[in-house]
Amino acid sequence: MHKGVPVSPGVVVARAYCVDEVLARREPQALDAAALSTEVVRFENAVVAAGNELEAVVASVRQQLGEDEAAIFRGHKLLLRDPALIAKVKTTILHKKVDAPSALHEALDDYTQMFEKIADEYFRERLADIRDVIGRIMSQLAQSGKDIHCLQMKEPVILVAPEVLPSQAAALECLNIVGIITEAGGSTGHAAILARARGIPSVSGLRGIRERVATGDLLVLDGRTGHVLLRPDAETEAAYRKLQREYVDLRDSFVHNRDQEAVTLDGAQVELLANVNGPADAETAQRSGATGVGLYRTEYLFLTHPTVPNEEEQLAAYRAVVEAAPNRTVTIRTLDIGGDKLVPYFGHEREANPFMGWRSIRITSAYPEFFQTQLRAILRAGLHGKISLLFPMITTLEEVRRIRKQVERAKQQLRSAGVAFQDNVPLGVMMEVPAAALSIHALLREIDFLSIGSNDLTQYVMAADRDNPKVAHFCEPFSPPVLRLLRHILRACVRQGKPVTLCGEMAGRPRCFLPLFGMGLRRFSMSPGFVPTIKELVRRSTLEVAQAVAEKVRRLRTFNAVRKFLTRATREVCPNVAALDTRR
Ligand code: PEP
Ligand code: MG
Repeated sequence: MHKGVPVSPGVVVARAYCVDEVLARREPQALDAAALSTEVVRFENAVVAAGNELEAVVASVRQQLGEDEAAIFRGHKLLLRDPALIAKVKTTILHKKVDAPSALHEALDDYTQMFEKIADEYFRERLADIRDVIGRIMSQLAQSGKDIHCLQMKEPVILVAPEVLPSQAAALECLNIVGIITEAGGSTGHAAILARARGIPSVSGLRGIRERVATGDLLVLDGRTGHVLLRPDAETEAAYRKLQREYVDLRDSFVHNRDQEAVTLDGAQVELLANVNGPADAETAQRSGATGVGLYRTEYLFLTHPTVPNEEEQLAAYRAVVEAAPNRTVTIRTLDIGGDKLVPYFGHEREANPFMGWRSIRITSAYPEFFQTQLRAILRAGLHGKISLLFPMITTLEEVRRIRKQVERAKQQLRSAGVAFQDNVPLGVMMEVPAAALSIHALLREIDFLSIGSNDLTQYVMAADRDNPKVAHFCEPFSPPVLRLLRHILRACVRQGKPVTLCGEMAGRPRCFLPLFGMGLRRFSMSPGFVPTIKELVRRSTLEVAQAVAEKVRRLRTFNAVRKFLTRATREVCPNVAALDTRR
C-alpha cells in the first residue's frame, strides 16, 4: 500500500499503463522489411508537417509578441532541418528495423548524453530546444493515424506517469483512462484540475511509483484517501470493486437533482457554477445542473494550440464555450500562464520561484498586442451570450487601473473597425495574492466583481507550492489563517455590495461548503462533476446551521481541529455526502 496526495475522489480497480512521458516512450515496434520504407516516408512527412507548423508559429509569434520571441522558433526550424538528426533517425529505422518514434527516442537519448557532458549551463539548456523539436515531430507522427499502440488501448487503464501536462492531454484521448497516478504534483496543480474536470479518480505525489509498477499490473486507486495498492490479492480486489460500485452509485444517485434549485431548507439561494477548460466541459456543466460558467480557464486553448491562436481562432473557441454553457453565461479569464503551465512562445527562462515570478497577468501585461487580441476576441464572444471578464493574479491597484485602460483600448479598436461586441462587460479580478486581499477595500471600489482563487491564495498565504507533494499538508484551505483571510475578503464584499464567487478547488469539496456559506459566500464555482453533490448538501442545509459552523470554526486553532469538526458537521447535515470528498 502506498500513500500519495488525494487529488480527485473516487475508487477504481484497473490495470496500469505506465508512461515515461505522455508522448510515450514505448516498446520499439519491430517492422518487417516491407514496412521500413513506408516508415521512413512517414517520418519524412512528419518532418515536413512539423516544419510547416513551425513556419506558422514564427509568423504568429512575430505578429503578436515580437521579433525576439519569434527567434526561438526560427532556431527550432534550423534544428528541424539538421541533416545529422534526419540521417540518424532514418538509419536507426532502416538498420534496427524499428518504428519512427522509437528511432526519435534513441536520437534524443544520444543528444541527452552528449549535452549532459557540457559544462556551460547555457549550452546545456539548449537540450530543451532539441526536446521541443523532437516532440513536435512525434506529435505529427501520432496524428498521422498509424499509432499502433494507441489503437490497442481500449481497455480501461490507470495511467502511471511522472506528471501529466495539459499540452499532452490530446495524446491521452486515445486511451480509456479511468484513474491517474502521478509522481509529481499536488492537489491543485493543473493535472489534478484536469482529472477532476473529467471525474477521474487521481492520486499524485507518489515518487518512485514507476519503479514498482509495470504496464499490465493490477492496481487499486482510492482518490479519496490517496491510497494505491499494487497487485492486490483476490479478496482485496473484490472488496475494492464493491467500494468502486458503491461510490459510483452514490455519486449517480445525486444526479437526479439536476433540475432542482440550489436552495437551503430555510430558503437561502445559492448559485452553483462550473469551472471549464473548453466546450466539452461546458456541455458537462449543462448536464450537471450548473447555472452558468463561473470560471473559463482560457489557457488550455493556448497550451494545446500548435501556434499562438489568432483573434478569429480565439473567438471561435470562446464562442463555442459560450454557446455550450448553461444559460450562455460565462466568466472568461484572460490567459493565466506561467507557474506550472508553460507555453514556449513567451520565452520562458528557468526561474527559482516560478509561482512568484513571471506569471499570469504579469506576462500578458508585458505583451500589449497579444493582450489586446485576447480582449477583442472575448468582447466579441460576448455577443453570443452573457460574459464577464476576469483577470488573474492581481496584486496591486495600479494593475487594475492599467487593465481597465487596456479594455477601453480594445473596445475602441473594435468600434473603429466597426466590429460588434458586448459593451457592458463586467470586469472582475481574481483574489489570489495576499497583498490584494490586504488592500481589498480599495480594490473593490474599482471593479465590478471578485472571484476568489483559493488554490493560489492558499499557496501564497501558507508559503507552500501547490504542486509540491512534500508540502501538500501545508497547502490546505482548512487552515485557520486561510479561513481567517477568506472571512476578511467575504465581509468586505458583503459590506461593499460586490458580487463574489469562489472558484478554487475548495468550492467543490463538500466539507468546505458549510463554513463558506456561513461566512456569507453565495456563489460557488467548481468542476462540473461536483455540482450534484454540492447541490444535495445545499438542499439539506440551513443558513442557521452554516452560520453556527462558521462561528465555531473561527475559534478553532489548528488544521486538524478544523478538519475533524467539519467532517462531523458535514456528516450531520448529509451523511452520505462526506464519503465523496477527498479525506485530507
Ligand atoms: C485558483 O488559484 O484558485 C484558481 C481558480 O485558479 P487556477 O487554479 O487556474 O490557478
Ligand atoms: Mg489561480
